[in-house]
Amino acid sequence: MKQKLYIKTFGCRTNLYDSQVMLSALRDYDIATDESDADIVVINSCTVTNGADSDVRYYINKLKKTTNPKIYLTGCGAHTKGKELLDSGLIEGVFGQSEKKKINKILSKPKGFYEIGDLEFVDDEVVGEFIGKSRAFIKIQEGCNFRCSYCIIPYVRGDARSLDEEKILEQIKKLAANGFGEFILTGTNLGSYGVDKKTSLAKLLKKISFIRGVRRIRLGSIEPIQVTDEFKELLDEPWIEKHLHIALQHTSPKMLKIMNRRNVYKQDVELFEFLREKGYAIGTDFITGHPGESDEIWQEAVDNFKKLPLTHLHAFTYSKRDGTPSATMKSEINGKIAKERLHEIESIVKEKNFEFRKENKKPLEVLIESKKDEYFVGYDQFYNRVKVKSNQDLTGNWIYLEDFEVKTEANYAIF
Ligand code: SF4
Repeated sequence: MKQKLYIKTFGCRTNLYDSQVMLSALRDYDIATDESDADIVVINSCTVTNGADSDVRYYINKLKKTTNPKIYLTGCGAHTKGKELLDSGLIEGVFGQSEKKKINKILSKPKGFYEIGDLEFVDDEVVGEFIGKSRAFIKIQEGCNFRCSYCIIPYVRGDARSLDEEKILEQIKKLAANGFGEFILTGTNLGSYGVDKKTSLAKLLKKISFIRGVRRIRLGSIEPIQVTDEFKELLDEPWIEKHLHIALQHTSPKMLKIMNRRNVYKQDVELFEFLREKGYAIGTDFITGHPGESDEIWQEAVDNFKKLPLTHLHAFTYSKRDGTPSATMKSEINGKIAKERLHEIESIVKEKNFEFRKENKKPLEVLIESKKDEYFVGYDQFYNRVKVKSNQDLTGNWIYLEDFEVKTEANYAIF
């Protein structure tokens, strides 16, 4: 009888894709729908913050105390915490992202292996499904050439490299033929796609848009300097979502320097205003409490932040990562202050998102992903959540809403 295996995915959309590649490569194991009836649990870990590391550790301890399955570690945390967890005896083995396609063979190795692999690999797998999902995450790029002073990612994902264009298009054709209409392009530094292959994200987007069945393309996070003129020409296309997530990380010019960021606030605000005029919803990343974030710098940052036409925010308090330049910086900020600053900007964006939804009069195009309590839930073209009441099962359906009610936490409709 085959053993039952469960893959627990932490972190970003790129990890979601990597987990799907592992699921597709499994031959000698049955897939468990959750860890409670799994003989084996593979943890596809994240290490972007201390919190991410402790989440993985907490999860391992919980498994040990409950079903006590065999545990294996992969993902970004394999590079930072792999040895430590292996030495703790809590896990059977560690393998790097480059080894994920060999998962079937690797899991039959005796306890104690550490197959970390390399950080030059480029995926070439074509997966035919996304288990339990109504939209597909497509990895097009891996690694990052930026060197933001607080970030561990380049050290656990390697330098930027693009997946093969033919493989990406073949991937999307296969998933579109299997009924997927929405595709989320993902990568470590998505906007770097093509830099190593004399092509670009914009060129790839155009080619994807010609594939039969592709209804909407969403993008993971891109950098402000990667919103090129070529990319801007695509903004009115019907197949591109009317929401962009553009990572700023901070809005104080002094702090952007300390963080070794490549974006410049003056250009960022011009770009965001241009996108707003185009009717786009705009999200960003922000880190509060980075060393050097004095009260004066914070006040400057908040004043600048308020000027941005934002609708979505992905914000963190600074998390010291050993091995990064920021980890050796003095003038650390008290965690409580960092949290207060985080809440301050979160409430600013919450209000701006509500205003944006109230002002928007365009019909909403929603892909219903799931049902929660009495509502079917999905996201519209502005990446805002929509809750719909209906007598018919709408899961996996696209619906077009002209009448909807805007409430603080979401838009509501009856269909
Ligand atoms: S762009 Fe900066 S924050 Fe993003 S992955 Fe690269 S180094 Fe990290």
